[in-house]
Amino acid sequence: MDRKHFLKTLALLPLAGVGMKLNELHKITDNFIGTEKMPVLFVGHGSPMNAITDNIYSRSWKTIGESLTVPKAILCVSAHWLTNGTAVTMVEHPKTIHDFGGFPDELFKVQYPAPGAVDYAKMAIASVTSTVVHEDIEWGLDHGAWSVLKNMYPKANIPVFQMSIDYAKPPQYHFNLAKELYALRKKGVLIVASGNIVHNLGIISWDGKVKAYDWAVEFDTIVKNSILENNPTPLIEYQKLGKLAMLAHPTNDHYLPLMYTLGLRDKTDTVQFFNETLDMGSLSMRSVLFS
Ligand code: ZN
Repeated sequence: MDRKHFLKTLALLPLAGVGMKLNELHKITDNFIGTEKMPVLFVGHGSPMNAITDNIYSRSWKTIGESLTVPKAILCVSAHWLTNGTAVTMVEHPKTIHDFGGFPDELFKVQYPAPGAVDYAKMAIASVTSTVVHEDIEWGLDHGAWSVLKNMYPKANIPVFQMSIDYAKPPQYHFNLAKELYALRKKGVLIVASGNIVHNLGIISWDGKVKAYDWAVEFDTIVKNSILENNPTPLIEYQKLGKLAMLAHPTNDHYLPLMYTLGLRDKTDTVQFFNETLDMGSLSMRSVLFS
């Protein structure tokens, strides 16, 4: 495996799409039948190889998929779709994007042909009033989404759409934006944020000699405890941790999805962690389910 290709390039992509009148959007939202509150997930996705490897991570994703109420649609906020502004995918048949290099052909052959969820994407646009959520017709499903969903819902029969991460914005923006998406939880939408709670590929222990760096454990534990205490403020303000924050996230693309999960939490949600391990020293696979 050519590991250097695993280092992601950050492409800030332009948004494509057409406008829609706000009153049309509100009509769309009103037409959806309410459901019981759906859970919210943060998934540590780690290596793209988890998509096709039978291991503790892919197995727990399968278990979670089997245990949850079948959603009407899935909204995925992935670390791998970074844009200027916030957008949602508005495509009937999202393409499977192989946004990595240096992995086996087998991984490039994976297709996840889930249908799109255009009407639910419109609902997301209508739900957000603090900013304009753009319509995107170029993106599909990146590996932050499909590597996990392929294991959770192998039949690819649940409609999926993605929301991009406005990479110019601070954590508080994403936390606040997530709150505006709360209504989707009552409309049968499972919201899956996909990143990693500790993500430093520059000093990863590729040979596995280092199981977990001390600072990685420290950061991961701070996140765990703040979630258990239902105190998101230190996590929104994680940059106050200084050097520790920089070690855990030299860039915060894999951290920001957590802000969506935290923002969507309500005070009656229970907390369940899974995949509570550090991989290759500097990659936390910790995942959390609020339900
Ligand atoms: Zn990733």
